[in-house]
Amino acid sequence: MSEKISFNIPFLSGKEKVYVKEAIKSRHISGDGDFTKKCHNYFEKKYGFKKTFLTTSCTDALEMTAILMDIKPGDEIILPSFTFVSTANAFLLRGATLVFIDSQADHPNMNVSEIEKHITDKTKAIVVMHYSGFACDMNEVSRIVKQHNLFLVEDAALGLDSYYENKPLGSFGNFATFSFHETKNISCGEGGMLVVNDEKFIKRAEIIREKGTNRSAFFRGEIDKYGWTDIGSSFLPSDLLAAYLLAQLEALDKIQNKRLEHWNFYFNKLKKLVKKGKIKLPKLTEDTKHNASIFFIVCKSEPERSELIKQLKEKGIQTSFHYQALHQSNFQSTQHQNALVNSELFSDCVLRLPLYVGLKKGEINFVVKSILEFYRNK
Ligand SMILES: *Cc1c(COP(=O)(O)O)cnc(C)c1O
Repeated sequence: MSEKISFNIPFLSGKEKVYVKEAIKSRHISGDGDFTKKCHNYFEKKYGFKKTFLTTSCTDALEMTAILMDIKPGDEIILPSFTFVSTANAFLLRGATLVFIDSQADHPNMNVSEIEKHITDKTKAIVVMHYSGFACDMNEVSRIVKQHNLFLVEDAALGLDSYYENKPLGSFGNFATFSFHETKNISCGEGGMLVVNDEKFIKRAEIIREKGTNRSAFFRGEIDKYGWTDIGSSFLPSDLLAAYLLAQLEALDKIQNKRLEHWNFYFNKLKKLVKKGKIKLPKLTEDTKHNASIFFIVCKSEPERSELIKQLKEKGIQTSFHYQALHQSNFQSTQHQNALVNSELFSDCVLRLPLYVGLKKGEINFVVKSILEFYRNK
């Protein structure tokens, strides 16, 4: 095969152009226009989220949760080490102390049984991240937050259209955040969403998202002039982006079916390497319906992963590793010196394979064959 196989090619339904043109024609391309409203309706109806707000990124949505919870210096936030920097930055920006939790031994998700011993009277919130759309143990996390009276935030950047015991991810936390970055299943380039499941935070979320003003209430005709009522920032995306996003949402089933088909193909072809003890794959469990956001294998060691990346690259196959364990980053390593061995392992050994709707069967087959060939002599 001489053609290059990209790691990711964003999906296009074809409707994006039509909707973006419509948005342009409407002469309303700032935030909260018709397309934004349509996206909000879609999410609230399909997933039963109490209230949704499109944002300019998942990062912004996370920053909004930190403001909504009134996070202050001294507050402690419990979060996984194996996650994207934004999960941590959002709280660090408000002066919080980060308490990193290790991954499970057999999955990059946070080891929930490690949480309780890290709870102190300064703990404000637990932030979970559902890696590759595989749910964390939400029964246990929900029990812990209830018992200790803490906030629960789901970083569901990778969790759209995933379910835990038939309940959609993003519906467990007081707050949940999603990403529509180009690398995610559904995208508008850069974009995100805040889900507020806790009624009492809806009004304030609206204000914080609108630069600390009650402008949204004004546009609904609830007040006769708007003003500055709280802190806030500019978190709403242009309706142009919402138009693009809506076109993608309308193709959600098609996207998900194709991605799952590719995911299952990889899984079924590569599981013989698991049997032979050469790689690890995520375990499929009864309680989780995942969304095929990522297909990853876990190599034995970092050098072996580098060798595999190099060999695949020589064949024109692009692959990618993933998060760096945050407690080991240059920025945080002086404050966090305890080893979190599983998080470190996944940071060194996770390898993500090409996965997107436009990927052809022949291409996936070639990726599989190349990996099997690599492990023949290992
Ligand atoms: C992609 C990602 C983010 C960031 O999303 P943006 O929309 O780019 O801000 C946050 N958390 C996780 C777990 C992610 O994978």
